[in-house]
Amino acid sequence: MQVSDSEQITQIAEHLAMLRRRRRLAHVPFIAAPVLGFALSRLGVFDRLPSLVFDALLVVGFACILIFWVSHLKCPRCNHEFHMGPRYRNDFTRSCLWCGLRLNGQNVGEPFTIKTR
Ligand SMILES: [Zn+2]
Repeated sequence: MQVSDSEQITQIAEHLAMLRRRRRLAHVPFIAAPVLGFALSRLGVFDRLPSLVFDALLVVGFACILIFWVSHLKCPRCNHEFHMGPRYRNDFTRSCLWCGLRLNGQNVGEPFTIKTR
């Protein structure tokens, strides 16, 4: 079955929306950590150091899992890993490191080339 250009662009836009949602989710631990730390300090948890260390390890571990998950998401246009380019990795990039597809889908209809190593 042949997929038309407009259907393909719609699929890419939907995939990019999912990619944006997962990136936002990966930012949650970094936002939650200071809030959680403040809440724990108000509750007097800082008096007990082992629980603070456990909390910090939990937040960092959760953040690492989310970042690993997000960094392996595929680009909908070139099918390479969006955040891991041919030479380097950038978890904060807003365009595919292989084909240059922007996260907001602004250049989805434009011709592109895939970078090589
Ligand atoms: Zn790409």
